[in-house]
Amino acid sequence: MKCETCLTAISPGEGYEHSGRTLCEDCYLDVVAAPKTCDPWAVYSAKNTMSQEVTLTHEQQKILDLIKARGPIDLEQICAALGITEEEFRRDFATLRHMELAGACQKEGQICFTLFDNPSD
Ligand SMILES: [Zn+2]
Repeated sequence: MKCETCLTAISPGEGYEHSGRTLCEDCYLDVVAAPKTCDPWAVYSAKNTMSQEVTLTHEQQKILDLIKARGPIDLEQICAALGITEEEFRRDFATLRHMELAGACQKEGQICFTLFDNPSD
């Protein structure tokens, strides 16, 4: 089985279905977690901070702390716990993901967010 976007081999059970296509985790997250509109600044600042000390915004730090304490945790729980909208979360999560601090996993068909180096199932 291969990701239909980047052609990476996917182990059985590790593929993600989206709009009838099978995607690897990276491509899937790009689809579901990336901001819908092009946001060059988010990508730029994420890339920029990679080579330097990682500095997170207050909101990103709160998301990371929550994921650390309660992850894997789904989108609704994160938004409810932090009082942020889905758009705000997706924007900050995209940055955390570019920094390789946070990732996602699938739990009972539900996407949950977790630490990058701690994929949990
Ligand atoms: Zn892929």
